[in-house]
Parts: sequence; C-alpha cells; structure tokens
Amino acid sequence: MKGIIYHGQHDFRVEEVADPAIQHPHDAIVRVEETAICGSDLHLWHGESLPVDGFAMGHEFGGIVEDVGSAVAHFRKGDRVVVSCTAGCGHCSFCSRKLYGGCTTLAPAGPYTNVFGNPLLPGGQAEGVRVPWADINLFRVPESLGLEQALFVTDILPTGTMGAELAEVGFGDVVVVFGCGPVGTFAQRASQIRGAAAVVAVDLHEGRLARAKERGCIPVNPSREDLKERVLELTHGEGADAAVEAVGVPALVRDAIDVVRHGGRVSVVGVIPADEVPLPIMSGVMAKNMTLRAGLVTPQNHVQSLLPLIEQGRLDPTEIITHRMPLCDGVKGYEVFAAREEDVLKVVLTP
Ligand SMILES: [Zn+2]
Ligand SMILES: [Zn+2]
Repeated sequence: MKGIIYHGQHDFRVEEVADPAIQHPHDAIVRVEETAICGSDLHLWHGESLPVDGFAMGHEFGGIVEDVGSAVAHFRKGDRVVVSCTAGCGHCSFCSRKLYGGCTTLAPAGPYTNVFGNPLLPGGQAEGVRVPWADINLFRVPESLGLEQALFVTDILPTGTMGAELAEVGFGDVVVVFGCGPVGTFAQRASQIRGAAAVVAVDLHEGRLARAKERGCIPVNPSREDLKERVLELTHGEGADAAVEAVGVPALVRDAIDVVRHGGRVSVVGVIPADEVPLPIMSGVMAKNMTLRAGLVTPQNHVQSLLPLIEQGRLDPTEIITHRMPLCDGVKGYEVFAAREEDVLKVVLTP
C-alpha cells in the first residue's frame, strides 16, 4: 500500500510499504478513505530527525473496516468508522479509569507511543492501518453523516472541546481562546455551545480572525490592540472567567493566566513541545486562586457526545477544511501547511 512515510526532518515521502495485517485477535484493519494533516504532525516535520524511520505518519483518519481479529466484538467488515488518535487497550489500570492516553499496554515505551503515526503504531496517512483493540478505538460513523463530517472527532474536535471543559466554561462566562487554528476554532465553538456570554478569539492572522468573527466571536489581534485592556472592558474591570491556550506557545500560557480574573480557570490544550515553561506562580496563579489545567486528548471520552451535535447541525467540523488533495500529493500538503501558505487551516487527504 501507499503511505506518507517518515524519513526525517522535512523528509516525508509517498511510497509503498507492506500492507497492514491482523497481528492480535483484538485488531482491525481499516481501509482509509479520508485522513488529515494535524498541527502536531508538524512537530515531526520540523523536529530533529528520529533514529527510526520508515513508518506512516498521521493520526486523524477514518474509512471502512476491511478485516477484524477473532476477538473483536462490535465491528465487522464493511463498517464505516473513524479512529481515536490515541489508542487504549480498555483494561489496564489507566484505561479502566478512561485515561486512555496513559495506557500501559500500548505505551510501555513512554508517552505518545500510543498515538498513531510512530514506529510502534504506524499512522493513517496511508491506504490502510492496523488498529489495535478495535472495540475501544473505533467509532461507527452514524448513517446520517458523511465520513468527512465525523473525521475530526479523531483528535482536534475533542481537543478543542476538552479545552472548554478543562476551563469549566459555563453559562454567562467571558472566555478568551488563544488561537484560531483548528483546535482554537473548536474550543470557541464548544465555549459557545456551553453557554459563554462572549468568546474573545485571539490570533495574529487576519484571515483567521475574520473567520472567528463570522462564528460570533470577538476577534482580537494582540499586535494591533491591547488584549488585556479589551478583556477588562468586557468584564467591568475584572478579567475573563476562563481562558484556553489552543496554540502550543509557552508565552501564551502566561498571557492566559494574565487575562483571567481572580478565581479564573485556564486550560492548555495546544501541544507545547517543551518540558519547561516559566510561569508566574505567585503573582499569577497563587495570588489569583486560579485553576490551571492541561492535557492531551482522549477522544474515546468525547465521541459519543460530539456525534449528536454534528448530526443535529449544532457543529459543522468541516468548516475548517481549506484544502483537499489526493494522498499522493500529501508531501505538498505538508509543505503548504508548514509554510502557512494559501490561508491554510486544514488539509484533508484522500487515498
Ligand atoms: Zn491531530
Ligand atoms: Zn490500557
């Protein structure tokens, strides 16, 4: 089969690799019909080359079940499915508490090794994928939806939703969302659905801010106006009730802490590829009695509540798609996405 294969920094190639095969009775093989390039794929594109190469990239994908192992109970050949970006076994200590990201069965090599698109778990930017523990990690696409409408429950839609959830966004809140990319867009939508009175959308990109305004947010470009002043104006001088960092930039965590009021809540769902981030612990966090939470998404916990919102038209995740191209042009997709050319927000690839 063909896939977008990792060879190192800025060196992904569309090439032939071995077809995926059932290795374990709980596996399924999914024939990929649609897959997307994620902002976190760019960490491998830009990052230092890994010692191992030759694996398929990608963790946002869906398609048709082609084969299932003998122990798979809930899926069979022909089912239309999307796949959780993070795979869990469903029965280890963490999975049994629904903390699939910490699965000790599938990630014994450490964090993230149970996210598709790594040497241990080849990804979905390919014609086919082996999905371990299929009953835990596959989700049936409702008949009323196209695959593309459900595609983003694999990662970025639940990530944005989790941003609003961790920041406890509720009725009447003024919320600041840092970032109007795919995750920021969905954090804004989730905040609106959860009853926010106002959502301030922050970005440096005018095209992205215009889209945020169209969806009812208050756009702010901090290079042109003072964000904190604007938030204080909106909140009678108190500060925002909640803020969501949806970009993955350390300085924005500090800005998020700065814009919330006493007792405010900040969530960090933008992936920050750094181990240390300086924070104003006393003046910002402790003196404000605020809550700071962060996490990587576990789509399994969100899919069943997101699909009905899509089916009923409260959410249209396809709003973020700006580019569609065949998988064989996927390297070009990475180049456009990495360079932020052509007002790109999301690239969807079709094998
Ligand atoms: Zn992703
Ligand atoms: Zn597990």
